[in-house]
Amino acid sequence: MAVTNEIFRLRADGVRILNFGAGEPDFETPERIGDAARRAIALGQTRYAPAAGLVELREAIVAKMARINHLEVSVEEVIATTGGKHALFLGLQALLNPGDEVLIPVPYWTSYGDMVRLAGGNPVFLPTSASDGFKVGPEQLAAAINPRTRAFVLNTPSNPTGAVYSESELSSLGEVLAAAPEVALLTDEVYELLDFSGQPSRHLLRLCPKLRARCLIINSVSKSYAMTGWRVGYAVGPSAWIRAMTTLQGQSTTGTSSISQVAAAEALGGGPDEAIMLDEFRRRRDLVCERWQALQDVSLVVPDGAFYVFPDVTRLLSATVDGEVLGKTTRLCELLLEREQVALVPGEAFGAPGHVRMAYTAGVATLEEGMQAIGRVFAELSGGLVRTD
Ligand code: PLP
Repeated sequence: MAVTNEIFRLRADGVRILNFGAGEPDFETPERIGDAARRAIALGQTRYAPAAGLVELREAIVAKMARINHLEVSVEEVIATTGGKHALFLGLQALLNPGDEVLIPVPYWTSYGDMVRLAGGNPVFLPTSASDGFKVGPEQLAAAINPRTRAFVLNTPSNPTGAVYSESELSSLGEVLAAAPEVALLTDEVYELLDFSGQPSRHLLRLCPKLRARCLIINSVSKSYAMTGWRVGYAVGPSAWIRAMTTLQGQSTTGTSSISQVAAAEALGGGPDEAIMLDEFRRRRDLVCERWQALQDVSLVVPDGAFYVFPDVTRLLSATVDGEVLGKTTRLCELLLEREQVALVPGEAFGAPGHVRMAYTAGVATLEEGMQAIGRVFAELSGGLVRTD
């Protein structure tokens, strides 16, 4: 969001920015979804909705859970929220007591740690590395669990790495959690439809049904249906947790816009747009990875999902610019913005200094233009490196 604010400022000054910072699809919201919203207005569906969300939307979520995840859930186990972000916020507020620890794999989506702290908890970060594909393994998870551990946050496909856990990886994490009955599982699945791995994978709750009583699924229409501005997310979990979250929502936002809720119900019914976006993102992923892999002094784990690449640029940080060693990716991102008007997000935001995140949420021509601009700056930095190898 900080990068986006800087971009708004520069754009207001008439500067053209190649924006690969924002985590949102560049597609228009599919027409069938806009039509549903227009119909909702015409039919007067413009009043307060129940705090847990319109029944029509919650039923659409139940149907989607059966269609995509092959999980049978009831309407009482579902709450519609103001984006996936607020679903997670409400879940943490409802679940945590002061001092509770929440295990969060690194690199992480920026908001997790702060949301845990806002709920009085302590985030405990689990480091991962490129050689593990940026994924947490079962031994690591088991070793991190202690009597203060209240929850584990799993995000697959991941923002920012694009890592996707396979069915066997999910199973082995599930087994560790099954042996730790006090630990809740929060699974952030907002990128679920953007999985290029091609491996059909059953939902973790199908693999480990025992976890059902302590698992909160977080999801949203933002990324899968190009609906970031509509602000509709949802959570699926034990009905007692959903009731607590509904109380909190009722006394805070009352719920998201009724019109957006009708539109989200249409979205979740599915349409050809789901496959079209997946194909386009896969094409872009392939293009962008090829370009990054061709750059010197950069290494990349090819992501299996979401719409981000997360290259390691550590080596470039020892280059000197204007008499000063670059040192941090925040400085590298500033340089890219100043020199080439290219916006990336520094890895520090995700707990992973030495990396940058590029969202490939722009057309192929813009991505090519951006990669050339990045290539120019990086070639200059590579040229100025003191080489020890
Ligand atoms: N979870 C992850 C991993 C995200 O990347 C985002 C948005 O960037 C969200 C949740 C929240 O998205 P929204 O509130 O738009 O549903």
